[in-house]
Amino acid sequence: MPIYHLRCDCGHETELRCKMDEVIKCPCGKEMQRVPAGGSFQLKGGGWYADGYSR
Ligand SMILES: [Zn+2]
Repeated sequence: MPIYHLRCDCGHETELRCKMDEVIKCPCGKEMQRVPAGGSFQLKGGGWYADGYSR
């Protein structure tokens, strides 16, 4: 299984091995969203921006 980087609206982020169609819930109760690796959304080195943007 691939490792996905998951992110929630509340700002919680985690990396997890899971199935592609598996729904992962954040501890806050919301559904977490997969952050595509190597996509246009840059997470590495841009985490501060992503965090600031969500608030
Ligand atoms: Zn959350």
